[in-house]
Amino acid sequence: MQIIHHGAVNGVTGSCHQLDINKQSSILIDCGLFQGAETAGKTTADQLRIEFDLSHITALIVTHCHIDHVGRIPYLLAAGFNGPIYATKATAALLPLVIEDALKVGVTRNQRLIRLYLKRLQQLIKPVDYEQWFSLEVNNCDSGFQQAKARFNVAGHILGSAYVEIELSDTRTKKDSHTVVFSGDLGASNTPLLPSPKSPYRADTLVIESTYGDKNHHNREHRSDSLRQVIERSVIDNGIVLIPAFSVGRTQELLYELEQIIFSQQHNDMWQSIEIIIDSPMAANFTEQYIKYKDLWDTEAKAVLAQQRHPLDFSQLYTIDSHQDHLAVINYLASRQKPAVVIAASGMCTGGRIVNYLQRFLPEPTADILFVGYQAKGTTGRDIQEYGPTGGYVYIEGEKIDIKAGIHTISGYSAHADQQDLINFVKGIEHKPKHIRIVHGDTEAKQALADQFRQLLPNTEIVIGTS
Ligand SMILES: [Zn+2]
Repeated sequence: MQIIHHGAVNGVTGSCHQLDINKQSSILIDCGLFQGAETAGKTTADQLRIEFDLSHITALIVTHCHIDHVGRIPYLLAAGFNGPIYATKATAALLPLVIEDALKVGVTRNQRLIRLYLKRLQQLIKPVDYEQWFSLEVNNCDSGFQQAKARFNVAGHILGSAYVEIELSDTRTKKDSHTVVFSGDLGASNTPLLPSPKSPYRADTLVIESTYGDKNHHNREHRSDSLRQVIERSVIDNGIVLIPAFSVGRTQELLYELEQIIFSQQHNDMWQSIEIIIDSPMAANFTEQYIKYKDLWDTEAKAVLAQQRHPLDFSQLYTIDSHQDHLAVINYLASRQKPAVVIAASGMCTGGRIVNYLQRFLPEPTADILFVGYQAKGTTGRDIQEYGPTGGYVYIEGEKIDIKAGIHTISGYSAHADQQDLINFVKGIEHKPKHIRIVHGDTEAKQALADQFRQLLPNTEIVIGTS
């Protein structure tokens, strides 16, 4: 058995891991797009190219449908990949939406071509229930393992997200079976809406993410309070509050928490009248899926539903769909003297509708930008965070934009497990790993997490993943 990393090694994007079961059979876990600094020095074609041999790849397993885990699937198909794509049912429902968007943004606007890709994708997707074992095809080979099966478990990161256990065995010989666990992205223990991940019983080899391997989040009350306070302070001057957010996951968490605040502030006129605007057709589509799959919500969110409240679909919420309406809303918000909260993608300000808002409102002293997610090095979001508070500027689409708007970051807001969550995930594994590979994080985060794991498991080989 061997594991090769094709991405998410020197950073957090482009996740794609290859598990070699034997010399003739391998499977891929995720096939994501590179973003931010990890694209530096590479042409677009280079970033997208599937640079590895596909001839022995028998299946793709998708942990969740964030773009940095699935964005290169169209290129995988174009390169001739023809095997099954396993995903949880909710991920399988979301995946075509994400891929359609990725194709439109990065590849082609040709509707016929997009339909062809999506049709091919639909033919290959195999939706599976959580905790349901499924067999993986293994080609015959003299050495290595002969059988493989896998199952998804709740990761609590976004709707449908999973970590995957893969059990390798060989009935011909007396060789011990070997369980490999790929964490995908693990959710924080205090993520709203979704339940927290439970550790697997066994993991001989664990490949684990480390996005927040060197940090611990503020607790959830603190975070929700910060959200309320930042918005309250920001709207005093009647300006708008812009929140860049991933369409899937973060947007729904924000809606959930905003509904809670509105519900708890029944005598506060501002909260009872402020408009919450989702300017993203993608986010609206995803929100629909979140509502459809409400059986996957955690107990707290289900209790809110039982009170006849609608955390993702409340009366002060407005959704902007067409591009024309999007442009009209920007002008409308800029011309009136009334606050509003606008949530738009992309989460790191590298593209999407948030860009038009930033160009219009960054130079506006009454406006406020509120970051609620991780901003990777080299992204516009990170630049605004760095240069904004000192009244600097950023370049957006080649244009120099002065930053006069207020810049805020609520760091505790993350769909990713923090250091303590990651340690607890490993602590909870009954049959402890012999090998741990740390991937999907900046160097400092990986080092810090490795130090923690070395203390916790002195007899385990801890490796920082390299390609
Ligand atoms: Zn993710």
